[in-house]
Amino acid sequence: MSSLAVLHAAQLVTLTGAKRARIGPELSELGIISDGGMLIRDGKLERVGLSDEIEKNIGDAEVVDAGGRAVMPGFVDAHTHLVFAGNRLDDFERRSRGETYEQIAKAGGGIWSTVQKTRAASEVDLLARATKYATWFLRCGTTTVEAKSGYGLTVEDELKILRVMRQLKQEVRLEIVPTFLGAHAVPRELSPDEYLDVVVTEMLPHVTAEKLAEFCDVFCERGYFDIDQSRKILSAAKKVGLSLRGHVDQLTNSGGAKLMAEMSATTADHLEQTDEQGIAALSKANVQPVLLPGSVYALGSSRYPRAREMIEAGLAIVLATDFNPGSSPTPSMPMVLSLACTQMKMSPAEAITASTVNAAYSLNRGDKIGCLEPGKLANFVIFDCEDYRELAYWFGMPQTHSVYVRGDCIV
Ligand SMILES: [Zn+2]
Repeated sequence: MSSLAVLHAAQLVTLTGAKRARIGPELSELGIISDGGMLIRDGKLERVGLSDEIEKNIGDAEVVDAGGRAVMPGFVDAHTHLVFAGNRLDDFERRSRGETYEQIAKAGGGIWSTVQKTRAASEVDLLARATKYATWFLRCGTTTVEAKSGYGLTVEDELKILRVMRQLKQEVRLEIVPTFLGAHAVPRELSPDEYLDVVVTEMLPHVTAEKLAEFCDVFCERGYFDIDQSRKILSAAKKVGLSLRGHVDQLTNSGGAKLMAEMSATTADHLEQTDEQGIAALSKANVQPVLLPGSVYALGSSRYPRAREMIEAGLAIVLATDFNPGSSPTPSMPMVLSLACTQMKMSPAEAITASTVNAAYSLNRGDKIGCLEPGKLANFVIFDCEDYRELAYWFGMPQTHSVYVRGDCIV
């Protein structure tokens, strides 16, 4: 039995509360213990409380003095595209010169360039890159990420990406939740309907037979997959037992939020263009919105999703990075917190709830991670600040002091 005691956290941000995703005023209830401490045994939290009380029960535990710093659950990033080859530096430079998406695609950029590089890459290459990015996430204080396939777009290459994720789980301490996103774009060699058939009749059976994913996602957007095509893919995925997520209403309000409600999806992601009716539909069907302000920022747009209206409608809001080489090249949840507060008018407390406990529930892991209470995994971060609000306040600077996964110090 290995045991560890963490003492003297200026703020121990526990996020204890209802055993479900938090809504409305609950989003602001962080369950902070001043001068808090925790006792950890075999990777799980055994006691959480005042530092003095923990010290009395310390036994032979190894002691970590948080030294008056803030301690929080590790961030849970519920939307990333972790496995890809190459980068999109040329696109970035072209965009900085004011070129449009169409001009960039014509010059050989856009998602297709990442697909070509990812297809050409071996599993070993992809694993090496993903391992590097996994380290970035841990250094930013993230201990769990959802990761999507979607840069292969052939049976073989989509499976290759998902197998890299499975391998990565063995190699790094970042916890990874895999999502199949074969329907990320239509490959150039097939028509949309031909490719849809490949996704449903070839990819999905392989993915489920090898148990390579927990969720299925689709890019529902003009020029990608329309509402009917998205519905076909999501219905087929549901039939084989996958839970559903979706990229919807990012560039146009096409009714994607309503589709996710109709499908009883777990999450609807992006939602930059979603209107009141879309928000009402999500609320009625209990779908969690996953908001991705990093991609709005990095694309130089000002159209952020309507977070306040979603909170007022009772939605269990989630924040995530959308880490990907094209539109959101950041693994930093603190940067996302900053954007949520400055651009979407969420409070620092709401942003923290959305990026920890609510994100955990959106990955069907609310019983294991996302808050610091007895029985949960000891995934937590000591930050080099005294007040949790500093995480969203100081921006562009890492404040991570140390990161623990299942009670082991990783960073
Ligand atoms: Zn995405």
